[in-house]
Amino acid sequence: MKAKSSFFNTFKRISPCIFLSAFLTECLFSSPEHFKLSWPTPNPAFAKGQGYSAFLQKTGPDKDFSSGAFGCVRNNGYKFHEGIDLYPLRRDSKGRAIDNVFSSMRGKVTYINRTTGHSAYGKYLVMEHREQGICLYSLYAHLASIEPGLSVGSIVEVASPLGKMGNTASFSIPLSRSHLHFEIGLRLTSDFQKWFDRQSFKTPNHHGNFSGFNLVGIDPIPFYSAYQAKSFKSPLEYFKNLPSVVNVRVKSTRVPDFAKRNPGLFPKIQESNLFHAWDCSFGPFGIPIRLSPSKKPLPGKQIVQITSFDSSVQNKPCRQLVKNYSGQFQLSKQLKVYLELLFGITLA
Ligand SMILES: [Zn+2]
Repeated sequence: MKAKSSFFNTFKRISPCIFLSAFLTECLFSSPEHFKLSWPTPNPAFAKGQGYSAFLQKTGPDKDFSSGAFGCVRNNGYKFHEGIDLYPLRRDSKGRAIDNVFSSMRGKVTYINRTTGHSAYGKYLVMEHREQGICLYSLYAHLASIEPGLSVGSIVEVASPLGKMGNTASFSIPLSRSHLHFEIGLRLTSDFQKWFDRQSFKTPNHHGNFSGFNLVGIDPIPFYSAYQAKSFKSPLEYFKNLPSVVNVRVKSTRVPDFAKRNPGLFPKIQESNLFHAWDCSFGPFGIPIRLSPSKKPLPGKQIVQITSFDSSVQNKPCRQLVKNYSGQFQLSKQLKVYLELLFGITLA
């Protein structure tokens, strides 16, 4: 039997183990009490309550360990890092990492990129996790190798091996900085190529709907901390309780495919309930946390209207959602991209 993540085992000691139904299929939403979250590397430091230096890979010898954290942690706060970087515990005689990487939740392998040069993520694997009312993704990047038996569609139990930690990327990561780049979040659209074709990128999209542009991450550390503290019953509850940073009204009658994947973030829509706009709430760093149809009009020919914005929650330099032009609030480029992907609209 293959080794499972020691973090998961630590949790098993903390809380009584609840077994998944053997008959659960991927098409069904699992019930909240079945939700299990496991650390994606063998390092037990986080579960033991140790600090960043015990598990985060910093970006250089003279940098702080927080440079491996999520958020505006790079280039003096001007570069966003949409995941966490986790260093290996074990290396071979040539200095190569030999730590396994484990699935953080039960789910389905939905994308594998085996070509290092095709992505800044290098060799990477994406899983989708259909929990009650929400479909999370988790992403494992810079892998040295991917478990040979895995392919798109493989159902993977929580804490099962996905591959080996490494330093693969379209740019150069020194062997000494081998790490797992790990993300958790939501996917915006199932029609990503349509948006991509309208842009003027110099390289093709090799990754279908699993390009990083189409994935919006949350900070994994507070998510794990909240799980450890048993402060949420389901991932949906956690996402719904994220603070709202900006609310916008979008002129569109189209029901985004995001709604079908994440029905818990939407009210039930009646067929007869005519609407002509959507009220959307975005949480930290632009994660969509609530969308509801609206009958309220938008002023003039506006396609998007900012209805409220809380700068006290977050407007960090690396990922501004709203910009303040002499007292006038306007959508940032990033928030425009998210709205374009969600609603299939084009914003100037
Ligand atoms: Zn990273």
